[in-house]
Amino acid sequence: MAADTRGLTAPADTGLTVRVRDLTRSFGERTVLDGVDLDIARGEFVALLGRSGSGKSTLLRALGELDPDVTGGGEIHVPRERAVVFQDSRLLPWTKVLDNVTLGLTGPGAARRGREALDEVGLAGREKAWPRELSGGEQQRVALARSLVREPALLLADEPFGALDALTRLRMHRLLQDLCARHRPAVLLVTHDVDEAILLADRVLVLDEGRIAVDIPIEQTRPRRHGDPAFLHHRERLLTALGVDTDRNQQEDTNR
Ligand code: ADP
Ligand code: MG
Repeated sequence: MAADTRGLTAPADTGLTVRVRDLTRSFGERTVLDGVDLDIARGEFVALLGRSGSGKSTLLRALGELDPDVTGGGEIHVPRERAVVFQDSRLLPWTKVLDNVTLGLTGPGAARRGREALDEVGLAGREKAWPRELSGGEQQRVALARSLVREPALLLADEPFGALDALTRLRMHRLLQDLCARHRPAVLLVTHDVDEAILLADRVLVLDEGRIAVDIPIEQTRPRRHGDPAFLHHRERLLTALGVDTDRNQQEDTNR
């Protein structure tokens, strides 16, 4: 039986934007999500780590209601106002940048709001460009503008910076932090990058064996620095949870 998630929001008095209980998803014999429980508070930024194939995208797709076959013995509450960003910007190639941002928006203010969103991501003046005329990083910024122009209560992002070079990724981290500080959506950011998770999130989760195996709040003030003892402590703990041998990594680092 498909879980009924249509238009349900978490009860207002809980302060939650997402509330999931006992979410299960199997492909044939293989159970990928095995009774996931997840709460995301209003405006909270949660990063989700996990090994490749651990079910991160499957979970994100379930929250985005992109997976009709997901089952939940319990509950899935997600807000109606959601936006999803993927690794690939998924812009329509035959539609100019501004129209990509405002696609589906109605009302007299749509173009103005689209222009403001482009301005916020640093792309003022590129409204009439075709997606192919933009770099990969710029295309992802258009994808962010397209999400935020709808003022979502929940932003779902599946490795949105995974295809970008390191320098562009750093700039995108800063941009995403600024946008989130301004718009305050709840965020679920799927990433395989432990540092990205600790830099950005209020809370970092690790998905393992179909469940949330680790759930750590990151309390350091922002901007966070890689060298801080608290940062290194979280990093080690998360790498261990991901099955990475941190002693060996440190050895390799010092040998470099
Ligand atoms: P992750 O995003 O953590 O790398 P995914 O959620 O994409 O992992 O996939 C988890 C597991 O589910 C993988 O083993 C993958 O092959 C399997 N899977 C995902 N989608 C499908 C599908 N539509 N059909 C069959 N297997 C799938
Ligand atoms: Mg994935």
